[in-house]
Amino acid sequence: MNRSITRRVFLGGAASSLSLLNTGVTSVAGRNQNPGVGQAVEADASSDPQEESLGQKKTGWIDAHVHVWTPDVERYPIDTNRFSVEDMVPASFTPQQLLAECQPSGVERVVLIQMSFYDTDNSYMLDVIKKYPGVFSGVGIVDHHAADLPMQIDALSTAGVRGFRINRRGGQKKHWLTDSGMATLWKIAGRRGLSICPLINPSDLGVIDQLCVKYPDTRVVIDHFGRVGVTGEIVPAQLNSLCQLARHPNVHVKMSAFYALGKKQPPYKDLIPMLRRVIDSFSPQRLMWASDCPYQVQGKHDYQSSIDLVGHHLKSLSKTDRRWILRDTAEKVFFNKVS
Ligand SMILES: [Zn+2]
Repeated sequence: MNRSITRRVFLGGAASSLSLLNTGVTSVAGRNQNPGVGQAVEADASSDPQEESLGQKKTGWIDAHVHVWTPDVERYPIDTNRFSVEDMVPASFTPQQLLAECQPSGVERVVLIQMSFYDTDNSYMLDVIKKYPGVFSGVGIVDHHAADLPMQIDALSTAGVRGFRINRRGGQKKHWLTDSGMATLWKIAGRRGLSICPLINPSDLGVIDQLCVKYPDTRVVIDHFGRVGVTGEIVPAQLNSLCQLARHPNVHVKMSAFYALGKKQPPYKDLIPMLRRVIDSFSPQRLMWASDCPYQVQGKHDYQSSIDLVGHHLKSLSKTDRRWILRDTAEKVFFNKVS
């Protein structure tokens, strides 16, 4: 495995967003120095994904956040203003490579998140959705200042996109509250049953809170716990800020990117107190597990360790709760029919 993931693409974001955290982290190898914590594994047959998938159609789990890309940059050009081919690490993560990782863990459907390499050109993701009917949903990236934004949203939603990613690149979030394009995006999303998916840092949670006050009908899905824990420490005030968003009924959170949070060491059990707190605040009906592949399958990290944290190590979860987090919430939010 290539262990030289640069900070530029870490957590699917842009260089500018991560560098604001001042982590000084430059590689997967350099991020993971802490030993894991040994605990008993829950013996709960009902949580065995493969067992669940037997006999019935579409009973397998859903991974709510994965990126795919192809080395074929002739057919699918990358945004060369921000990225070069060398930034594509691993060099390839196609749907075939993805399915080889996730299917053995009982994951049958996946929400694709538009990769920043392609900026607002969603065509590779859309082609993948089309090629595998019923397997993939999508979260796209649009230029919210485009004159034809409503038509773009229309076309993307017809093609299987159910959400739009916003990130804090270049300090844009300062303007999110007053930006007319952002207002259009949030309003249309709210009207159409589509989601806004912010990739943010803990310091941005307050802005999201204000946006949720402004657009209460718009469903929001926060990536990776709002990156609480990305510095290596779960800061209580930051976790409080995240959990305070639960006051907005439309806010959902992805329990994801375990490789990048806390001790960053499989089996990630140091994250359990944070997971419990988030579950208590939001309830399983507003939480969804996700791997953030391909980053979850680099170096010492692997796919099964990610799903096991929710599927086996969270002892207090009922069978129903587990199903919500591993499947039903993502199904409701990202595999829904829209008008
Ligand atoms: Zn990501």
